[in-house]
Amino acid sequence: MDDVVKSLFERPPLKAPAPKSGTPTTKVPTAATAAVQKPTREEAEAAVRTLLRWAGDDPSREGLLATPQRVVKAYEEFFAGYNKDAGEVLDRVFEEVQGYDDLVLVRDIPFSSHCEHHMVPFVGKAHIAYYPSEHGVVGLSKLARLVDVFARRLQTQEALTAQIVDAIERHLQPRGCAVMIEAEHMCMSMRGVLKQGSTTVTNQFTGIFRDDPAEQVRFLTLVRDK
Ligand SMILES: [Zn+2]
Repeated sequence: MDDVVKSLFERPPLKAPAPKSGTPTTKVPTAATAAVQKPTREEAEAAVRTLLRWAGDDPSREGLLATPQRVVKAYEEFFAGYNKDAGEVLDRVFEEVQGYDDLVLVRDIPFSSHCEHHMVPFVGKAHIAYYPSEHGVVGLSKLARLVDVFARRLQTQEALTAQIVDAIERHLQPRGCAVMIEAEHMCMSMRGVLKQGSTTVTNQFTGIFRDDPAEQVRFLTLVRDK
């Protein structure tokens, strides 16, 4: 049996069961709730010049002249999630599914995020499954977009997993939801312990998936079965 599956049986989650759907379980920081004043673009570019000097280089040399503008622009992309709302991504629900009520799984959703401890990337894949309720289903691409709403912020992999689950619980009210994230953290491969190629796996289950180990096995089998 797969080690991941085995560990599910050997080590039940220490966490208390998640509250009923509809109850906010995860605090999601957004630009609106974080009580910070956004600096001007010029201030942000000056901060990049400071870091260039901190790295030991000369921000006035030709190759670096436009770097602060590029970095600030890249930050707008890396952290675009602060301006996005999960509710807007999941707002269109299709109720007409011809009686389909089995599991919906979207696997291998690629993402890149930044760890909130070092502000360096972690890159990986998310696998999302849910059992639709009479509330309906969402377009499959919406689940991929949902990952980016949260990945494009400063994150921990654990919080990213929990926030995706929480958004699906709130907006789709499924009979159960399962999310697995596998990622490599550059803060482990490029610095610190310098372990390249190690992968961190996080799982979170609600409803049917949380209550029935056979459903967890089914999810993990479908994720691995290629
Ligand atoms: Zn880190």
